[in-house]
Amino acid sequence: MLTEATAALNAWIEVDLGALAANVQALRETVGAAVELIAVVKANAYGAGVAGVAPALEAAGVERFAVVWLAEALQLRQLGLRRPILVLGHAFPADTMAAVKNDITLTCDSTELARALSVAAVDAGRVARIHIHIDTGLHRDGLGPEEAIALAEFARTLPGVEVEGIGTHMANADEPSDAYSVEQQRRFDAALKRLSWIPYRHSANSATALRRPEFRFDGVRVGLALHGVQPDHTPAAGLAPILSIHARVARVLEIAAGESVSYGQTWTAARASRLALIPVGYADGWRRSLGNRGAVLIRGQRAPMVGRVCMDQFVVDITDIGQALREPRASASGRSPLTDVVDGIVPGAETVLLGSQGAARITAAEVAELTGTIPWEVFAGLTGRLPRVFQRDGHVESIA
Ligand SMILES: *Cc1c(COP(=O)(O)O)cnc(C)c1O
Repeated sequence: MLTEATAALNAWIEVDLGALAANVQALRETVGAAVELIAVVKANAYGAGVAGVAPALEAAGVERFAVVWLAEALQLRQLGLRRPILVLGHAFPADTMAAVKNDITLTCDSTELARALSVAAVDAGRVARIHIHIDTGLHRDGLGPEEAIALAEFARTLPGVEVEGIGTHMANADEPSDAYSVEQQRRFDAALKRLSWIPYRHSANSATALRRPEFRFDGVRVGLALHGVQPDHTPAAGLAPILSIHARVARVLEIAAGESVSYGQTWTAARASRLALIPVGYADGWRRSLGNRGAVLIRGQRAPMVGRVCMDQFVVDITDIGQALREPRASASGRSPLTDVVDGIVPGAETVLLGSQGAARITAAEVAELTGTIPWEVFAGLTGRLPRVFQRDGHVESIA
């Protein structure tokens, strides 16, 4: 679609900012007005392009942002965002002045970092807001409850430091049983009782936010749900995918039965075949393991991927696509069916790798299943080469 803006593009990622705003609204209705939406836009907004996504989220009314690296937080400030930004990942004492000057909230995991923040805050004549992350059983980042409580009590005494928030993160948020979340929450609650002076509490990602209203606290850290993907084992929340991947057929070729396609000759044509070359490859994040397994949508039908995915391109079999055209056009024009079909799919024809075309759809969950991973990795694995086309109601707002 969007032919004017995308006519010159071989392949692109389309991000529907209208769907994004609708997802914010749907989540708002689900969690209620008393719970803040903390938009998690780490890793280039999960591949969608933070330059377009983050400002649209702020305009749609999310209260806060979260990223993992300080550099990501600074990028959000450079984009002009005004809302509070929380860095979830590890920060170094050397980062403190940049954080303080840009009013970025760090997750503090050591007395050393707390001291450095205090010095920077006093120097700059500002307040350094921090959150403390409690490890309640994920055993990845954060401090165990006793250490976390000691750090919070220490940081509280430092000039210029404000201990604003406390959080934790679930290990089994989208597993069939979230019984372990209940256990983690029990540990979190025990710590919260002793830190009741900390005003802001958060523990839920998308799955927990949708599934466990009692764990929403003051804000929910939502990433995947904003992307419009419903996490497993959660009640439907009326979300719509925001990201689709499009490519134009680079060329159409025909090969004889017995000829093979792409590196390693992993696919051999059992019949005379018509193929289309798609100008997207694993360098774009379209995984090599999709070779001979995935498909693209063309004319609202599925064209199977044949042979290996290369760095910049792959091949699909379009022999069976366009069948609908054969009979009427063959009888009307008297031309051979083959010619009619080749007329049908020409270089430049739009294909959809992820998303929908007509009634057909390829979801991130399907691609994840085929590649042995999860939708998060499908999105986050999209590299920077494909342009991100940000549109709303069919109008392109920007391209990054
Ligand atoms: C990435 C991340 C989230 C967002 O998770 P989703 O499942 O995408 O909503 C929330 N919290 C933390 C700590 C994260 O790292």
